[in-house]
Amino acid sequence: MELNFIDIHTHTTKSRDNLIQIVNLDLGQPYPEQGYYSYGIHPWALDNADFQVDEALNKLKENLQQPQVIALGEAGLDKFHADFEQQIRLFERQIVLSENMKKPMILHEVKSHNEIVTLRKKHRAKQPWIVHGFNGTAQDARQLIGQGIYLSAGESLLHPERKIYKSFKFIDLDYLFLETDMAEIGVEKVYEAAAKLLGTDIVTLQKQIFTNFARLFGRETRGREALH
Ligand SMILES: [Zn+2]
Repeated sequence: MELNFIDIHTHTTKSRDNLIQIVNLDLGQPYPEQGYYSYGIHPWALDNADFQVDEALNKLKENLQQPQVIALGEAGLDKFHADFEQQIRLFERQIVLSENMKKPMILHEVKSHNEIVTLRKKHRAKQPWIVHGFNGTAQDARQLIGQGIYLSAGESLLHPERKIYKSFKFIDLDYLFLETDMAEIGVEKVYEAAAKLLGTDIVTLQKQIFTNFARLFGRETRGREALH
């Protein structure tokens, strides 16, 4: 039996056999009947002074009610973007939504490890969080995983100059996902690069990541074809 590849965060709806993916959609985009999706309010939305927070949160809440919308994301914090205090307030409202609606979160996180960890503790959040596009040091990874936060790595694994290239082998595999995000490569290329850095094979990695996926989303996805 051929095993599935899992792409935990992508922006393309293109699918194929043996691929499970969580497609990130914009709030206004409709969700197709089949597949798995995520909706969230990206911290960059606040770069637009006319952005209507309450309206967006209402729309988000409505979208999260759909069973095929299995995660809230991207949400998070980005030190390189506007009004960090406002970003924190928006993120906290999404934490509350994630907890109330029992949907794990996919996080966009730039230079904000400490704040993410502090807010997870402050809200005593129980829902799993996945930091997507992780490109930190081994110490950053330990700090996040220590709070039960999962990490997802992408195209950076193909680039020796990135931090993740060195820190990758120190990530606890029970907390690992892989993704393509915006990259125009197949997720199997990311699996190949990951397997090479870990000194393992692709099948072992597929099993590990499938186990992680089932642990996080098993309840949501039970009985659906993808997990059989
Ligand atoms: Zn993305």
